[in-house]
Amino acid sequence: MPRIYMDANATTPLLPEVLEAMRPYWLEQFGNGSSIHQDGQKARNAIEQARETLADLLGCHAAEVIFNSGGTEGDNTAIFGMLRPGDHFITTSIEHSAVLQSAERMGQFGVETTFVAPQPSGLIDPVDVLDAVRPQTRLISVMLANNETGVRQPVEEIGKIAADCGAFFHIDAVQGAGKTPLDVRSFGCHLLSISAHKVHGPKGVGALFVRRGTPLESLLVGGSHEHRRRAGTENVPGIVGFGKAAELAMHSLEDGTIDRLAALRDRLEAGVLAIPGTGLNGSLPNREPAPRVANTINIWFDEVEGEALVIALDLKGIAVSGGSACRSGATLPSHVLLAMGLDKARARASLRLSLLKTVTEAEIDHVVKILPESVAHLRAISPVAAGTRG
Ligand code: PLP
Repeated sequence: MPRIYMDANATTPLLPEVLEAMRPYWLEQFGNGSSIHQDGQKARNAIEQARETLADLLGCHAAEVIFNSGGTEGDNTAIFGMLRPGDHFITTSIEHSAVLQSAERMGQFGVETTFVAPQPSGLIDPVDVLDAVRPQTRLISVMLANNETGVRQPVEEIGKIAADCGAFFHIDAVQGAGKTPLDVRSFGCHLLSISAHKVHGPKGVGALFVRRGTPLESLLVGGSHEHRRRAGTENVPGIVGFGKAAELAMHSLEDGTIDRLAALRDRLEAGVLAIPGTGLNGSLPNREPAPRVANTINIWFDEVEGEALVIALDLKGIAVSGGSACRSGATLPSHVLLAMGLDKARARASLRLSLLKTVTEAEIDHVVKILPESVAHLRAISPVAAGTRG
């Protein structure tokens, strides 16, 4: 069996159609979209066509789509571009580090941040967001879907809270795009970040939705590109690839691909949870899964070192990711799982399996066969397990 890639939330491969769409813009149609000659105008038309496609994906006007370098830049721009000394910022403790570290940076410039904690299910309770609001609250930022658990947040309700209290609302939708419909109007957001490489597009390209009239200061200054909101010569092949990937993502949301993916995810989940001493991270008090996107499961394993399991599976040709992250040379348990109330050992002993939309039944069945063997082997040799068994 060829290698099985179950780490789609880290990145996805280009679809062949995306590569084909990009190819001419590296070679013969290499013009700069700001040049007035025909070569430049071809590039300009390609950029504007991609912008229209992205606007369709997001449910907004083309002029509200600003191309950039990806999710990190979108998140940084939304936060640095909206907040000023004395402002109050509300976000959650389960955001991506692109948001958390931006909040930390703003702290050095006199912006105070409230980090709303999730419920044990991984869901943010909109009432907790409302309780955090102050007269100085200028911006609220909540992710659409969590990268580690896949839990989908109630952004529509949070958008209403933002509107009622006169705050601007940013959504990090990097992990929602292509997995769940995006509609910036029903979300009630002013800003929304997405990234091409999570939806089978190229790396290093993304977009920020900026609702018309939002007083966003640009992060990069220089030329008058992207409606003066993001200076720098546009990455034409990347933008064209993003446009194609967005078009294919929209088809997938409508042609049954996502339902098929959810069914395969359920089959994988049932297979993994059949292993004794396991549980789903991201379940409601009634033990049902919290609302979530179709491709992600996050499971804890008793008496297993998560990193060892990731390595064991990798050696057997299966790419997944664990409940720890490497920061400053140290392996720390996931801040998301800790915020949901898992203890450090259980957070470390967790595994994220995130499926590509091209996943096959044979791949699912292979993982369901291999995983119990790897877990049993690690438990047999684990000093943790030996210690607990006394
Ligand atoms: N936000 C979320 C939720 C993510 O999962 C990621 C990437 O993993 C990012 C932001 C950063 O996106 P990019 O890799 O395009 O900078």
